[in-house]
Amino acid sequence: MDTKDVASDIENVLLSKEDIQERIKDLAARIDADYEGRDILLVGVLKGAVMVMADLARALHSHVTMDWMAVSSYGSGTQSSGVVRILKDLDTDLLGKHVLIVEDIIDSGLTLSWLQSNLRSRGPASVEICTLLRKPDAAKVEIDVKYVGEEIPNEFVVGYGLDFAEKYRNLDFVGTLARHVYE
Ligand code: 5GP
Repeated sequence: MDTKDVASDIENVLLSKEDIQERIKDLAARIDADYEGRDILLVGVLKGAVMVMADLARALHSHVTMDWMAVSSYGSGTQSSGVVRILKDLDTDLLGKHVLIVEDIIDSGLTLSWLQSNLRSRGPASVEICTLLRKPDAAKVEIDVKYVGEEIPNEFVVGYGLDFAEKYRNLDFVGTLARHVYE
């Protein structure tokens, strides 16, 4: 492999391109079955959820509309605190809608816990959460995540929307970074 290739910075592949597409297909089948033809408003959380949103939306047979939110979570270092600021709000009125929050990964779950109650306060018919990946710490927070693609170990991962210093989002798989990247 060309050493300038972005994939050469990856130590270990956790989910291959094929693994991800399998998980997305399974999630979409469950969602289609649960919503039984009702329209769904998919709410993607920028920027990490872009890839999941694009693939999940195409795998669904239900009628969907899509909207986006950008939030920033205050915290020390890589640990989020649960104090959240909205950087970009939804364009859509949620009243009476079936909202499905689409996430790339849930780590502490604090951001999502805040987001779920914020969206619930806007009068939707329902608010559920779909995430491709979930880490073990998420269990510590009272948050009901209905759709989880894959449980992963407590490691920092990149790819398929997930970044390190805004890079690696374009990988079509999920993996851990090689030491030479951050040392
Ligand atoms: P939480 O509030 O659940 O701790 O924060 C979740 C957010 O932290 C995710 O949406 C993602 O942006 C970021 N995050 C958590 N774990 C990872 C990881 O392993 N890799 C990357 N690139 N971002 C992560």
